[in-house]
Amino acid sequence: MDMLNVKINGIAVSVPRGSTILDAARTAGVEIPTLCFMKEKNEIGACRICVVEANEGRGFRVVTACVYPVSEGMEVLTNTEKIQKARRTTLELILSTHDKKCLSCERSTNCELQKLCLDYGVEDSTFEGFKPHYELDFSTAHLVRDNNKCILCRRCVAACREQYVSVIGANDRGIDTNIGQAFNLSLNNTPCISCGQCTVVCPTGALTVKNDTDKVWEALNDPEKTVVVQTAPSVRATLGECFGMPIGTNVEGKMVAALRRLGFDKVFDTDFSADLTIVEEANELVERIKNGGVLPMITSCSPGWVKFCEFYYPDMLKHLSTCKSPQQMAGAVIKTYWAQKAGIDPKNIVSVSVMPCTAKKFEIGRADQSAAGVPDVDISITTRELGKMIERAGLKFTALPDEQFDSPLGEDTGAAVIFGATGGVMEAALRTANDWLTGKDNTDVDYHAVRGTAGLKEATVNINGQDIKVAVGSSGSAAKVIMDKLKAGNPDGWTFIEIMGCPGGCVNGGGQPIQPQYIRDTVDLKAVRAKALYDQDASMPLRKSHESPVIKTLYSEWYDGFGGHKAHHDLHTSYVARKKFNKE
Ligand code: SF4
Ligand code: SF4
Ligand code: SF4
Repeated sequence: MDMLNVKINGIAVSVPRGSTILDAARTAGVEIPTLCFMKEKNEIGACRICVVEANEGRGFRVVTACVYPVSEGMEVLTNTEKIQKARRTTLELILSTHDKKCLSCERSTNCELQKLCLDYGVEDSTFEGFKPHYELDFSTAHLVRDNNKCILCRRCVAACREQYVSVIGANDRGIDTNIGQAFNLSLNNTPCISCGQCTVVCPTGALTVKNDTDKVWEALNDPEKTVVVQTAPSVRATLGECFGMPIGTNVEGKMVAALRRLGFDKVFDTDFSADLTIVEEANELVERIKNGGVLPMITSCSPGWVKFCEFYYPDMLKHLSTCKSPQQMAGAVIKTYWAQKAGIDPKNIVSVSVMPCTAKKFEIGRADQSAAGVPDVDISITTRELGKMIERAGLKFTALPDEQFDSPLGEDTGAAVIFGATGGVMEAALRTANDWLTGKDNTDVDYHAVRGTAGLKEATVNINGQDIKVAVGSSGSAAKVIMDKLKAGNPDGWTFIEIMGCPGGCVNGGGQPIQPQYIRDTVDLKAVRAKALYDQDASMPLRKSHESPVIKTLYSEWYDGFGGHKAHHDLHTSYVARKKFNKE
């Protein structure tokens, strides 16, 4: 490889030709502040916070580190008096139009702008002039846009483009430039898939997830209500990050203890319904194969993906499994089977879910999601919102003991745990399909070909002597590749496909803890978080969904067989073709 030698603050490093000063600085262990930069996604050099002094033999000049390429013998100084002054001026210019409401801002203490202002001692702006005022956009179930806090970094635009959605972009010009939807439509009138990826990359409080925790507190304080909570597979692998724990720490036991101390009457695990999803979905696949149904069948666990399909491929909805997502299946079982066992009127149950996903807030309001005649799930909060509830309650999370989920809807298998990573649903389905089709209790349950964080994976698996071709996609962009191939006649011969709306699957969902961009640029969050789930799976005595005791009990006590009439009524749903734009 063609390498170049450069010095960063006197530290000699050798980096490949084509590297930027920011790349070289990171190699030297020097962090240069950034605001707009996202590695390989938003390298636009717009915010000017990353300025440094660079000497290529003609004296030091001020350049932007994130886009300026290194040259042989270049010397770079990242923190001179001149540079500190330049960064302070840039921050003051940003603050001149910024709504400085740190005391009540959702992102306070986790805001990249606030941290830089603190680091550089910038409290306010000496620049005065036109300050635009924007109305907040509350139009969707999942997020709030406050352009009064927007710094025009365009990271959200890049994230939405990566999802192959691109419903947000820059409107107007000059001082009037603002980020929003075309024709100033509110977000709910666009084909936004509710993935929340824009909220994860926003460095400020301009884009935040709609906070539903007050509704949860209200329910917890209502003596007439039984408040039941379920937590998605991936939340245990990420919640610890809200409390400074290392990325990839599995905090399942502490999470359960925290939920109990918050006052939930029952703490259940969405994992049980991930197992339920697998047996219903595997049964549906077998039925489609036997009866000449529509193939390939595509998973329907991810509401962001389902919405993507409804907006962008409405004529392909017949490929979607009709299974509800694990969140909704858990809600349905809680308000039917469990409610009857516990002797509680489902109307008096408040069913709360803790999810990695912002699209779940949309999903709970979908039609055809009320098995007991009332919504399956009443309130869906994200991992970040649960973190805030634990903080407000004054619980010392890291000091909590490890506790276990309540029975019976807290029992699960390793197959359910890996639902939180891309490829996990596929692997869980293959484990069950292999046992069902061979009639054996197979011990080799690791399907490495569908693991890993690649956006698109393909594999051929041999089950009972037959080669089955499968595909796994995560992100809107990957979904587009898969769906375009299906439209072209499925040339790769796939039989079963897993699609998740977020890159890397739920471990990287829009509701997960926000790590600063320099961490996102340098750590493979998807892989580290997924490892926590695969490690848990490997340590579990039961690793196939159909072996779950609670699933066996449900089908013997409650449902009339896999895919039977009752199961179909409670656990399956329908989809709608959606119009992309509604002009208000
Ligand atoms: S976006 Fe950041 S700087 Fe602005 S009000 Fe919120 S916390 Fe403060
Ligand atoms: S939620 Fe997803 S689809 Fe909607 S604007 Fe944000 S990134 Fe785009
Ligand atoms: S909304 Fe956030 S991510 Fe988007 S441009 Fe504004 S500050 Fe940047």
